[in-house]
Amino acid sequence: MAQKRDYYEVLGVKRGASGDELKKAYRKLAMQHHPDKNPGNKEAEEKFKEVSEAYDVLSNEKKRQMYDQFGHSAGGAGGPGFGQGGFGGFGDAGSFQDIFNDVFGDFFGASSGARRSRSREKPRGADLRYTLNVSFEEAATGCEKQINFMRNKGCTTCKGTGSKSGTGKVKCSQCNGLGEVRFQQGFFAVSRPCPQCQGSGQIIKDPCGTCKGQGVTQAASKLSVTVPAGVNTGQRLKLKNEGDAGPHGGDPGDLYVVIQLNEHPLFERQDDDIVCELPLSFPELALGVEASVASLQGNIALKIPPGTPSGKVFRIKGKGFSHLGGFGSGDLFVKVVVDVPDHLTSEQKELLKKLSDTLQDTPLKTEYKNKVKNLKR
Ligand SMILES: [Zn+2]
Ligand SMILES: [Zn+2]
Repeated sequence: MAQKRDYYEVLGVKRGASGDELKKAYRKLAMQHHPDKNPGNKEAEEKFKEVSEAYDVLSNEKKRQMYDQFGHSAGGAGGPGFGQGGFGGFGDAGSFQDIFNDVFGDFFGASSGARRSRSREKPRGADLRYTLNVSFEEAATGCEKQINFMRNKGCTTCKGTGSKSGTGKVKCSQCNGLGEVRFQQGFFAVSRPCPQCQGSGQIIKDPCGTCKGQGVTQAASKLSVTVPAGVNTGQRLKLKNEGDAGPHGGDPGDLYVVIQLNEHPLFERQDDDIVCELPLSFPELALGVEASVASLQGNIALKIPPGTPSGKVFRIKGKGFSHLGGFGSGDLFVKVVVDVPDHLTSEQKELLKKLSDTLQDTPLKTEYKNKVKNLKR
């Protein structure tokens, strides 16, 4: 197990910090790292656990005293030290949520509230994630996409009750209807969701044959998703209540549609800008040309002035992706490259040789030669 950081250090408070100071520090950090605000972010989740663990210990007078005296090894050799995760059941998201709710109340809305009273209320359905592939063109203009996916829906046979008769629920014998079981761990009493009734406090006597008592069944679903202009890979659209139906009639979870931008044969995206290359012949670069450049909005005429060096980048304003949720858009950057022919007729070779013989060194070439001459070797 990795070295554990000092709980005071974790919360960024002094050793003698008061309860209010602890609460304030914890509130700030927990807000910042809360999983609801950083979905899928493992690092934030770890940080959240760390600060919650620290706060759980330091906010409790008895635990804090133990910790001050013995540090992370409090509990002795045989007991569950603070560091072994055996303390208060850390690792169980529910216990963090409980601490969190003590400090924040229903700050994060209904979902937190539902989790707090998990022992009495019906469990909420799971959040779902759907990866949506979007082309450059679709992302540039925004689009409407149909998605097909599987999710839990309320069972039609038992109307979501999970019971064949519709009323066959009895109080769970293991937790006596409380939904949680308490047991002693080291110094502390710990409660966990009841394993027999999964925290609902009730068990079904006559489970429905269709859903096996769950109240939900998997079903194919179809949804239309509005993709706003300017989206990029990794961005998520939250479709509220479009996740799994809650078992036994609980609230549904949410559906997160995660954008995956397809590769484009011509364009590369850099933030809201688009970068591409435009091959031009040496005579075109030397003499200048009106080139036609592709953009997501159609072809654009681009004036290449005479004597344009290879590698020069032209910026076409406003032809990138629109800024998501804001005004304006990125630009299109066109890099010209010399297109060297890999095959020449003997007549062309003759012409090029004649040209080459008459060409004088450009400033660029002269500078290079001078630098080489001055090399100390
Ligand atoms: Zn059913
Ligand atoms: Zn139970």
